[in-house]
Amino acid sequence: MGQFLPWLLDAARETGYPVAELANWRNHHHGPMANHVHGVICHHTAGPDPYPGAKNDFPSISVIRNGRAGLAGPLAQYGLGWNGTVYIVSAGLSYHAGSGSWKGVSGNQYFIGIEAEDKGDGDWTDEQLDCYPRLVASICQHLKAGPEWVCGHKEYAPRRKIDPAGINMDQMRRTIGYYLSEPNKLRRSGVIGIKPPPVIGEDVAVQSIPISGQGLLPVICPVGGGAITAAAWISATIAEGTGHLRCFAQSDEGGVHDWEWHLESKNGHCPRRWGPLRDGVTQVIIHYNLTGRGVIGIETKPR
Ligand SMILES: [Zn+2]
Repeated sequence: MGQFLPWLLDAARETGYPVAELANWRNHHHGPMANHVHGVICHHTAGPDPYPGAKNDFPSISVIRNGRAGLAGPLAQYGLGWNGTVYIVSAGLSYHAGSGSWKGVSGNQYFIGIEAEDKGDGDWTDEQLDCYPRLVASICQHLKAGPEWVCGHKEYAPRRKIDPAGINMDQMRRTIGYYLSEPNKLRRSGVIGIKPPPVIGEDVAVQSIPISGQGLLPVICPVGGGAITAAAWISATIAEGTGHLRCFAQSDEGGVHDWEWHLESKNGHCPRRWGPLRDGVTQVIIHYNLTGRGVIGIETKPR
């Protein structure tokens, strides 16, 4: 008995924030959830790097996905990055709660866990503070749970835990209650996105997108070995300094592949890094952090 939660993806998308599915999230778990999942526990990661000096949006990603010494991952169903990206980690049981209880209910099988990236000092970004209650409200809609079924880890286990630091959970529950009563307000307004790459009449078409500093680039791509293109690649290079990129290739069904690139420019030259966009990839979400300027390339070979 029990259940898995494939709708976690829909719940994340309903926030209007970028969603990155980690590869194999549907089958990465410690077993099923309970037949009746009661609510949500909100956490912070106590991650290693303080914003904005970190290399990427969600430096705790491998800990939350794979676990740590003495505790196997996944350690939450969701991650929430600094720029508001929602990471889908697991569709099933995840170890995040530990001993404790909320409204008389105890155990990971009854609660969905969200690990939001924060050092533990409560220094949240505007995107996180905006996205967090929207995500939880969206989950509550799917669970048919009221805001009273949302708690902080610091409320579930008050003697052991302080997370999520700096967030007033009563206020959070009021915000969630507002979104549940006004569901058309739940999705944030405004859309991030760029147009698909043009396919021009050359052997390989290249669309170059200049980037610098730190940011997020969701690339919508009707590519892969589909009807439009014979093959497609995504690439990156930098003009100076160093760069760190994390790419999440997504299909309509889920996360296909994710990878990291470390780039270093020596004497004004940096080798171009590239990866193939496999069949079915419809979007690549790229988090970048550069000391100088760089370029993302979308390279397509027409049929
Ligand atoms: Zn926690």
